[in-house]
Amino acid sequence: MEPAEFLGEVTQIVSRDQVFTDEQTLSDYTRDAVRHERWGLEAPRAPLAVVRPGSTAHVSEIMKLATRVGTPVVPYGAGTGVMGGAVSMDGGIVLDMGSMDKVLDISLEDRLARVQPGVILGELDKLAQVGGMFVGHDPWSQPVASVGGAVSTNGVGYMAAKYGTMGRQVLALEVVLPTGEVVRTRELPRNVSTGLDMTSLFIGTDGAFGVITEATIRLFPQPEERRHYALEFPSFPSGFFAICRFATEGIIPAMVDFAEEEMTEEGGQAIEADAPGRSVLHMSLEGSSSMEVDALEGTIWEIVSNYSGKDLGPAEAQRFWEERHAAGERYADERGTGQRHPWREDGGGGFAYIHTAVPISQVLNLRYQGIPLFQSEGFQVKEVAIWGEPEMFSIIATDPGGSDRGREKMREVSDRFIDLALEMGGTVEYCHGVGLRMKGAYGRELGAGGRELIRRLKTALDPSGILNPGKLLD
Ligand SMILES: Cc1cc2nc3c(=O)[nH]c(=O)nc-3n(C[C@H](O)[C@H](O)[C@H](O)COP(=O)(O)OP(=O)(O)OC[C@H]3O[C@@H](n4cnc5c(N)ncnc54)[C@H](O)[C@@H]3O)c2cc1C
Repeated sequence: MEPAEFLGEVTQIVSRDQVFTDEQTLSDYTRDAVRHERWGLEAPRAPLAVVRPGSTAHVSEIMKLATRVGTPVVPYGAGTGVMGGAVSMDGGIVLDMGSMDKVLDISLEDRLARVQPGVILGELDKLAQVGGMFVGHDPWSQPVASVGGAVSTNGVGYMAAKYGTMGRQVLALEVVLPTGEVVRTRELPRNVSTGLDMTSLFIGTDGAFGVITEATIRLFPQPEERRHYALEFPSFPSGFFAICRFATEGIIPAMVDFAEEEMTEEGGQAIEADAPGRSVLHMSLEGSSSMEVDALEGTIWEIVSNYSGKDLGPAEAQRFWEERHAAGERYADERGTGQRHPWREDGGGGFAYIHTAVPISQVLNLRYQGIPLFQSEGFQVKEVAIWGEPEMFSIIATDPGGSDRGREKMREVSDRFIDLALEMGGTVEYCHGVGLRMKGAYGRELGAGGRELIRRLKTALDPSGILNPGKLLD
């Protein structure tokens, strides 16, 4: 079918003013939060159109049409993803779910919120707080990321240590399959003993198996007492060992954000394997009374002092807590004024932003062996970190040279780093989904049998291969 004819049929489903074909809109939708050439990836193609459905019925009709004529459809939440999951590689249409942004129900008794996928996480959290509850998924991008995008990337936020990933907080989904059928799962926890956990098919799978049109999310009661801490350690290993001891003592902090950064803020001393940067742990404890938190705190101080940690004081701890969403808020403000975040700009050097998970016993090995991989190619390691649980290790590296060749080399070295994590029994990425950037590595993590299983699932659900093609797997 010719593109004009296809779009003509689309406008029979959603009104004409919800179908955008102007050059500026199409160009804006060729990238999510990152310009993919900076990952050393092929540039995405502009879609035929951006379409904003207003209901599940719209999505279902669009999917039936797309399957019938073989036109690709890419689901899009708020476009803050960093792996290229929401961009089109094959033309087709981008299905922007941003107009489906209603909170359908908040039940304090059932402790859940039923929402459309375009609801912004931060907005939902504000509503939940009015009733004394909160949303446990609290990423940096909370002021701007959508529920549908967070589920499809199975994101990780500040409170993941206690409340888990976004996926863990999903009770049920309504999903439109690529062929247009609508499926719903029941909004109850642990509903998986009766057969396959269907909900999990749509968590962290880049929207490649179905378009989420409704999500039921667990809400949590606000704790009576929440305290924040900022603790500096003499080295990454000492802080890491302290975090591991919290776990073995049965202490589950709500927030664990431990970063070793370069020594000065003005781009000074980058981190080296044997020359420690500044290692600071930001942490929160919660409890149903101040006595409960006092008791936890006693054990925490003992462990911190055993590992030579130093308390930076409540003001620094509070500053961090209050500013934790600053990057997301800046990002939202820039979008409001039409500016582009530097990650989305043309030009700029390659960079690595990798969040692996490896067994606890391998974390320090990964740090010691991983940093030189970047340094030996002239790149600077800016940060290594643990977020949430001791296994969750991330690294940020930049290229001071900033050339095209540097971008390709950065990709190569990043892949070597990921392969090192895989050899250590780790996984490719714990935070940002698969998308374009990680699909090759995800295939290596799965192995031949796992790849085949995912392929068969994809073919069974999406026989025409029209939903988010080119994502999840090569
Ligand atoms: C400044 C900044 C800070 C960030 N901090 C964090 C962080 O702390 N933690 C974290 O986990 N991530 C973080 N991210 C990444 C990003 O915010 C998350 O990946 C987020 O979950 C993406 O949500 P989105 O609505 O923007 O999705 P998009 O980028 O629009 O889409 C992401 C993926 O979801 C799919 N998708 C979207 N909606 C649907 C739907 N309704 N049905 C099916 N598939 C769908 C898309 O096809 C794509 O594959 C950050 C990004 C930025 C720019």
